[in-house]
Amino acid sequence: MEAAKSSIGTLNNGGPAPARAFRGVHRRHVPDVQAVERAVADLLVGLGKNPADEHLKETPRRVAQAYQDMLTPRDFDLTTFPNDENYDELVLVSGIPVYSLCEHHMLPFHGVAHIGYLPGDRILGLSKLARVAELFSRDLQVQERLTKQIADCLRDNLAPRGVGVVIQAEHLCMTMRGVQAAGTRTVTSTMHGTLRDDARSRAEFLSLAGLTT
Ligand SMILES: [Zn+2]
Repeated sequence: MEAAKSSIGTLNNGGPAPARAFRGVHRRHVPDVQAVERAVADLLVGLGKNPADEHLKETPRRVAQAYQDMLTPRDFDLTTFPNDENYDELVLVSGIPVYSLCEHHMLPFHGVAHIGYLPGDRILGLSKLARVAELFSRDLQVQERLTKQIADCLRDNLAPRGVGVVIQAEHLCMTMRGVQAAGTRTVTSTMHGTLRDDARSRAEFLSLAGLTT
């Protein structure tokens, strides 16, 4: 049983064994590593490089391995626990590192996610919020969809009274290419339930996540 401390209170996630497990997201297509290696070799040729060069000859294999790693989330169970203490305040984990690949350019975007929820009958081990973010990050993504998938997953599996997800990320397809100054960040958010409908709850979430002055 992991300790569960939020930024604004302590949760009790003890009690009986978890009664409800993550129903799961469909397992992704396993990358065809050899096809990726061939494509990377072709890409090198297209870029005017010699794939037989000593420094490049292992590059297709390394790139294929890197994509497999970047696109394969670790398995985990999204185990929930009864909210025995009837904790009814916001649970927030801020600054969760996010690394993903933009599907338009296949270049990284990276930043932080702030994920909060207002518990209903169930609560979640706090480390699981980061695992949900990783689950959807390790894919070819757009930031808007990633944000919504995290929020929808928590809504559907935890049935909280509200969920809020904000992601702030730098997209290398923008900043490496000189479209925008380095350090430019894109901010996306998805709110469900009370955090969407109630301005005070939403303001509290944004304030605790350090997103307002
Ligand atoms: Zn892009």
